[in-house]
Amino acid sequence: MQKLTELYAGKAKSVYTTEDPDRMVLLFRDDTSAFDGEKVEQLSRKGMVNNKFNAFIMNALEEAGIPTHFESLISDQESLVKKLDMIPVECVVRNYAAGSLVRRLGVEEGKVLNPPTFELFLKNDALHDPMINTSHCVTFGWATEDQLDEMQRLTFQVNDVLSKMFVDAGMLLVDYKLEFGLFGDQIVLGDEFSPDGCRIWDKETRKKMDKDRFRQGLGSVIETYEEVGQRLGIAFD
Ligand code: C5P
Repeated sequence: MQKLTELYAGKAKSVYTTEDPDRMVLLFRDDTSAFDGEKVEQLSRKGMVNNKFNAFIMNALEEAGIPTHFESLISDQESLVKKLDMIPVECVVRNYAAGSLVRRLGVEEGKVLNPPTFELFLKNDALHDPMINTSHCVTFGWATEDQLDEMQRLTFQVNDVLSKMFVDAGMLLVDYKLEFGLFGDQIVLGDEFSPDGCRIWDKETRKKMDKDRFRQGLGSVIETYEEVGQRLGIAFD
C-alpha cells in the first residue's frame, strides 16, 4: 500500500495516510534524538535498522498472542500498521535499575528489580514526560482503569517474551517503554520496539547496546543496534 499524505512527523518516525482509513504507513527516518529532542543527529542506516528490528519484535509478540499494530514491512524504511487512537501514556517496565530510576530513587545502576517495576509517564515533551499514576490518567481522561489494567497486563506479557528472547541471545533486557492505542475497543501495542526505546546490556560484560550509546556519546550507535539484531537472528541486508 502506498503512502499518501503526511499526518504527523515525530522525532524519529513520520506517519502517512493510505487509501485504507484504518491503515497507515510508518516511515522510520535516520533522525536520532535524545533529551526531549534537545540532541538530534542523523545516523546513517538507522531508519532501516529500526524498521526491520521493530518488524521482527512485533511479529514475535503477535506470535505470542499480543495484539500489535504491525501489519507488514513495505520497504527498508517503511512499515504498514493499523491506525490506532493513541493513548498519550508511556508504560515502562524495569528489570534492572538504570536511567531515571537511578536518578530519582538513588538506587545503584544494575540492581536487579524483583519483581520488575511498572511506571506510567505522560507523553509530553514540553513537560519532559512527567511521571503520572492511574488516578491522573482517570481524572484527566487519558485512559480508564480497565484500559490501564490491560496495558499493564500486556506490558508484562511483553516482558516475559522479550526477556527470554534477549537472554537466550546473551543480552539483558534492562528496561523498555511501550505505547498503546485503541483499534475499535481493543487495546493494541503501537509505536515501535527498537534499541531506541529500551535498554539492552551484554549479559557478561554489561556493555550498553541501546540508545544510551547515543545519549552518553559512547559511539558505534548503529553498529551496536545491528549487533543486537544479528544476535537475535535479524537479517538487515
Ligand atoms: O529515562 P528512563 O530511565 O525513564 O527510561 C526508561 C526506558 O524507557 C528506557 O529504555 C528509555 O529508552 C525508554 N524511554 C523512551 N522514551 C521516552 C522515555 C523513556 O523510549 N520518552
